[in-house]
Amino acid sequence: MPDQSIPHPIPVPSVEAIDFPALPLMPEAGDRPSGDLARLNLNEAPMSPSPLALAAAQVALADSHRYPDHHAVALAGTIAARTSIAADRIVFGNGSGELLVQCAQVSLDRGDEAVMPDPTFPTCGKGVQMTGAHIVKVPLRPDGANDVAAMLSAITPRTRLFYLCTPNNPTGNILGEADLERAIREVPATCLLVIDEAYFEFACGGDEPDTLTLLRSRTGPWVVTRTFSKAYCMAGLRVGYALCSDEGLKRGFSRIRHNFNVSRPSLAAARAAFEDAAYMRAAVAETVARREQLRAGLERLGFAVLPSFANFLTVRFNGSAAALAQALHGQGIAVQALGWPDANGSLRITIGAAEENERVLAAIENQLEAA
Ligand SMILES: *Cc1c(COP(=O)(O)O)cnc(C)c1O
Repeated sequence: MPDQSIPHPIPVPSVEAIDFPALPLMPEAGDRPSGDLARLNLNEAPMSPSPLALAAAQVALADSHRYPDHHAVALAGTIAARTSIAADRIVFGNGSGELLVQCAQVSLDRGDEAVMPDPTFPTCGKGVQMTGAHIVKVPLRPDGANDVAAMLSAITPRTRLFYLCTPNNPTGNILGEADLERAIREVPATCLLVIDEAYFEFACGGDEPDTLTLLRSRTGPWVVTRTFSKAYCMAGLRVGYALCSDEGLKRGFSRIRHNFNVSRPSLAAARAAFEDAAYMRAAVAETVARREQLRAGLERLGFAVLPSFANFLTVRFNGSAAALAQALHGQGIAVQALGWPDANGSLRITIGAAEENERVLAAIENQLEAA
């Protein structure tokens, strides 16, 4: 028993110990993003949300003296109609990041284990640390996809959460159907299988596997998380959702959810954006076209570019990615340096507007010549 008479420090050591990357400081005078900085570091969309979403948010804003619909009945119904997942199995978050923390909270006790790829989106791992469970990190495959076979081998009797990210952030590659099927079949029914599909809309409609269809055969619990932040161009409005295997699991999320966690304008905008599929598809198509242009430009400069099914490219060259990121920052271009897969690391470059694409390519070319 710890001696209760000795006061512990505040913040408590378990909070101090949380390992989570700090977000970059990007000050906004006048509450608007600075036009001087090319923001190619957060996988934001360069274009505004659908005009229909903006109009819906504007109308909802006038009702802001009223709390939003906590149950998000309208939005849940709209998503249920398209996904065939019933509304009583859909839960909403202030971004899907909030739901990824909750995935850990609904599934883990102190001392349990969570198997995750490394590197990956860190937010579910933050939730794991908050519960006092342990993260078991399994290196990605060299092509940037989750290594399902190695992750399955890392399962122990204490494993209660198994996190897949496809397309994986920060590397961009997806899981093939065989790997996805295998995870769905072999992750024990005593584990929550979490599949983070933040870039789903960039990775569907082609040969990519259909996660929700494959999940029909799973007997254990599962969650698929998606977001309005990326393809729907709504990162600033903070709406994400989780599709759950069953109503009981959704009830678990509902218990830990904060009241009214998604704002009224955000709910209205999300529903209008979801219904304006044409706008989303055009934004995705434009982004993919620019991504392939940037890929060609970087390959011409000698970069190795990983396969990407998302709105960013992860690239490597024969030199320090961190130093290159630093130099680009000096020229008003923010990109993300990664300490993966070796000492040189890699750069994750978000696909921005056409002129930002050209700017980053020109700046990199200058930098390589100067080096
Ligand atoms: C961007 C992202 C998210 C969540 O973003 P929200 O804005 O919180 O919805 C989740 N997972 C991955 C892999 C992401 O890249």
